This record gives sequence, structure tokens and C-alpha cells, in this order.
Amino acid sequence: MNLIFLGPPGAGKGTQAKRLEKNLRIKHLSTGDMLRRTISSASNIGHEIKAVIDAGNLVSDNIIMQMISERIDDPDCSKGFILDGFPRNIAQADALEHLLSQKSLRIDHLIEFCVDKEQMIKRICKRATEESRSDDNEDTIRKRMDVYHQQTSSILQYYQDRVVLNVIDGMKPINDVADQIEKILAV
Ligand code: AMP
Repeated sequence: MNLIFLGPPGAGKGTQAKRLEKNLRIKHLSTGDMLRRTISSASNIGHEIKAVIDAGNLVSDNIIMQMISERIDDPDCSKGFILDGFPRNIAQADALEHLLSQKSLRIDHLIEFCVDKEQMIKRICKRATEESRSDDNEDTIRKRMDVYHQQTSSILQYYQDRVVLNVIDGMKPINDVADQIEKILAV
């Protein structure tokens, strides 16, 4: 089963994806995590990526598509994957469609996490202190939220006729959010 989790930074996508990873043995693929790993490798490309992320902007589609394309071929994705933080714009959504059709794969469900913006900002500021993430200061968070909201409606429109769209309340406690997701996947 292949899923897309759509939602702003801090909406709890990663937490829920990790639960499903255990329960369904499908792989959690977070492009943000992959990029942070590249940054920690201290390569030239890592430095370039860090500057983009720290400014709250999106990393180039080419870099992202190459990362995803290679990753979903790995054996641990053979039972499926949860895309978290990807696609972020129409160009990525379109490139993903082509990639999946080449591999005779498809997205089964798109789940959108609906959350309150101001509460999200508080949540991410707390995470910033816990994980010492350099892109999690308040200005960058607001910028990332704005970038997310600018792109989301067009992504939802793109998928409207292609995949089942589901909206869940991401403000509920973790177990309640998990229940909402389980109901969707059980259909
Ligand atoms: P995230 O952990 O998903 O909030 O991502 C952290 C940062 O990584 C984002 O603010 C972007 O700068 C970058 N990033 C993550 N995923 C993507 C993507 N699919 N396309 C472009 N940039 C991304």
C-alpha cells in the first residue's frame, strides 16, 4: 500500500507514519529526514541544501526526485511506502505519477492532516528546542507554513481525480489521529 501524508510542518505526519511503518511494514519516507541526513554528511551538496532549508525555501525538484526515485526501489519499500513531505508542488506530483507508472505502482490514499496554524507554530518551536533543528526558528516556520499553504490547494486539485482524498483532524490526541487513519485504510 502506498500513501501520501499531506500537512504542514509539525502536523504529526512523521509520528503517524512511524506507527504505520511498524503495524503495516510499509516504509516511512520523509524527504525532510533524507535531506537532513545529506546535510549531516558534510558534502558540498549538503551545504547547498542546508542554505535552502534554513531560509525556509524548497530544495530543487531534481534533487528531490532523484532521492525518491532511488529510494522506492529499495527492498524495504517492496510492501509499500508512506510519503511524508513529498510531493510539495505540482511539478513533484507530476514527476511522481510518471515515476510510479513506470514501475507499475500507484498511490492508494492521500491523507491530509488538518491543523491550526498558530498551534502548529508553538508545537514546532518546542520540537526545535528538543531536536536543535536550525530551520525551526519562528520566522522560518512561518515562511515554511506560507510555502506549504501556497502549494497545497494545487496539489489537492491535482490528485482530485487520481486518488482517494481523505481529510483528518490532526489536532486530536495521537491515538485518535491514528484511529482516523486506520478507519480510512480499512475501507
Ligand atoms: P520537513 O521535514 O518535511 O518539514 O522538511 C524540511 C525542509 O526540507 C523543508 O522546509 C524544505 O526546505 C525541505 N524539503 C523537504 N521535503 C521537500 C520537498 N519534497 N521538496 C522540496 N523541499 C523539501
